[in-house]
Amino acid sequence: MSSSAGPELDELYKDLILDHYRRPRNHRVVADPKVVGEGYNPLCGDEIAVEAHFEGGVLADVGFQGHGCSLSQASGSMMTEAVKGKTVEEARALIADFTRMMTDPDSPPAEDLGDLEAFVGVAKYPVRVKCATLAWHALADLLDRHEQAQES
Ligand code: ZN
Repeated sequence: MSSSAGPELDELYKDLILDHYRRPRNHRVVADPKVVGEGYNPLCGDEIAVEAHFEGGVLADVGFQGHGCSLSQASGSMMTEAVKGKTVEEARALIADFTRMMTDPDSPPAEDLGDLEAFVGVAKYPVRVKCATLAWHALADLLDRHEQAQES
C-alpha cells in the first residue's frame, strides 16, 4: 500500500472493517476434529477463540468466536478468510507479515496483504494494535497446539 493513500481510501478501509464487524465471516463452530487457539486482550476486554480443522497440513476449515471491540472482531473475520485453505507454513508467514505491518508500518509488507491492509491505519494507535492483532495471536496459539499434537 502506498503512503499516498488519501482520506478517501482511509474511509473505504474503515467501511471494510465495519462490514466485517457487522457481518462477521466464519463466525461459527468448526466441525470435529478441531484445534482451538485463544487470545485475550486485557486492555480492551477483547476475546477471540479460533477453531480449525486440518486436512493434510492445510487449514481446511477455520472459524472464530468471541466478543469485544469492532477492530478485534473484524480482524477475526478477515483473518479466517485470509488463512482458510492455506498450509501451516503459509499461515505462519501471514501472521508474521500482518504483525510486521501493524508494529513496523514503515517497512512495506513482504507480500500484498489484500484486504488485510485495511488495518494499516490502526498501526498509528499502539493501544488499538493489540485489538487488530489479537485474532492473529489466537491463530498462532492454534498452530502451536496443532504442531504439538502432531509431535505427540
Ligand atoms: Zn479492542
